[in-house]
Amino acid sequence: MRYVSTRGNAPKLSFEEAMLTGLARDGGLYVPNVISSRRPDEIEALPGMSYEEVAYWVMRPFIGESFAPDELRAIIARAYAQFDHAARAPLVQIGANHFLLELFHGPTLAFKDFAMQLIGQLFQTALAKRGERVTIVGATSGDTGSAAIEAFRGLDNVDVFILYPHGRVSEVQRRQMTTPTEDNVHALAIDGTFDDAQARLKDMFNHFEFRDAVGLAGVNSINWARVLAQVVYYFTAASSLGAPLRPVSFTVPTGNFGDIFAGYIARQLGLPIEKLVIATNQNDILHRTMQTGAYIKAEVVPSISPSMDIQVSSNFERVLFDAYGRDGGAVADQMADLATGGFTISQGAVEYLREHFVSGSASEDETKATIKRIRETTGEVLCPHTAVGVKVAEEHIGATPMITLATAHPAKFPAAVKAACGVDAPLPPHMADLYDREERVTLVPNDLAALEALIRERRGQ
Ligand SMILES: *Cc1c(COP(=O)(O)O)cnc(C)c1O
Repeated sequence: MRYVSTRGNAPKLSFEEAMLTGLARDGGLYVPNVISSRRPDEIEALPGMSYEEVAYWVMRPFIGESFAPDELRAIIARAYAQFDHAARAPLVQIGANHFLLELFHGPTLAFKDFAMQLIGQLFQTALAKRGERVTIVGATSGDTGSAAIEAFRGLDNVDVFILYPHGRVSEVQRRQMTTPTEDNVHALAIDGTFDDAQARLKDMFNHFEFRDAVGLAGVNSINWARVLAQVVYYFTAASSLGAPLRPVSFTVPTGNFGDIFAGYIARQLGLPIEKLVIATNQNDILHRTMQTGAYIKAEVVPSISPSMDIQVSSNFERVLFDAYGRDGGAVADQMADLATGGFTISQGAVEYLREHFVSGSASEDETKATIKRIRETTGEVLCPHTAVGVKVAEEHIGATPMITLATAHPAKFPAAVKAACGVDAPLPPHMADLYDREERVTLVPNDLAALEALIRERRGQ
């Protein structure tokens, strides 16, 4: 399988090359050149398989020659060995026909671990074979950074620099990034928002001299390998509830559109997903886009679900590419308009989006009320991101089972959870001393030249 850029003007790459590169050189995102549906009898055989076996079945055809079958099996086994639940992604019922898919049993307590633990092992194996070293730079609204640091800390062939918006991540998120002691880990607090961090990261990728000099690699949610890892739990969850014979719906708390895009891929692979619901917080650019057909940036307003405080939703470009009939030139034109505030999507492309997704948003008050109510009616304590999902999901539940993705553990956002429902959400035992560990962080300006200089100086030390 080959990977093509959503802007139609970059070399076609193998899985391994697309994974190591991240962003395409024309500024686009890599997607598979074809995606073909799996046979229903293969999907019928999934219940009863382990999470790892399903992962192998989902991923194998996308990986081509890049990793040998046994190598891939070993990578998957190592990636999920640290999860503290045998099912990896268990389902819990919270209402009539409403289920939570718990994606927070990995080492940093958010769903990002599913992709990042896998990517850490894939990078390690690929770089060791090539005898290469790379510099990973990531931008995070909180959870990607901690998951990346956890996945890459101490690995031989990698330096990892994580940019997070200073003062805008939760204390647990910050400490997960600033307390690892390995020399190859660098937490950078940028004076700006998540969108600023993400924009500087894109600037670095578009500065080819820097990109090549440091061996820049990206593990943000634009990395195709991450999307692919996330396709797996759509299959395990749906098949537990009777797919493919019985359809299911999913609601996904969304920021950068990575997790929900994985659901869209699962559907293309033949999983009968009836509704795929985009759930946003008050930073509702995706919900507005679905309603109006215009993608117009607004100011980011900080919320109690900070991992979704986004106005430039990177992976949305991937679905736009399909909505425009895979016309990279059309996507490039729209993205050029984004620099000046936004763009209007063509009628045909809007129809495509509305055929594939529905959407909703939750205000801060609605999010808090949902945490409180679900605690009272089920005993489950939701993280604020999950609560956004649950509230929006409730507007879309019908005869088909609804699965809402529980994207983080409530202990990652203890202040917001306590304020909403009065409950202290304790950290699991392996992290109980997080508040006592020493922090290491560098404050950096929102300035490309300064960031590049710092990375050049610190890498490989
Ligand atoms: C990253 C994140 C999201 C948003 O996921 P996207 O793939 O960026 O849409 C939602 N909830 C939590 C807890 C997250 O960490």
